[in-house]
Amino acid sequence: MAYRKCSKCKGLNGQFKNIYPSINDVLSAIRYIQSENPSVRLNYYKCPHGNGYHLTEKV
Ligand SMILES: [Zn+2]
Repeated sequence: MAYRKCSKCKGLNGQFKNIYPSINDVLSAIRYIQSENPSVRLNYYKCPHGNGYHLTEKV
């Protein structure tokens, strides 16, 4: 699934972050990622620039 990229927020890898338009989108993305990588720990947060929600990986 292709998401739009935020024009302001970058992740640790230097790539612009995906925009998840709603909480439901970000939660289903977390479920999908964790079904593939059960050990990964993810948080989501509201974009401070008003571009929906972003995922962030806990380290
Ligand atoms: Zn953002």
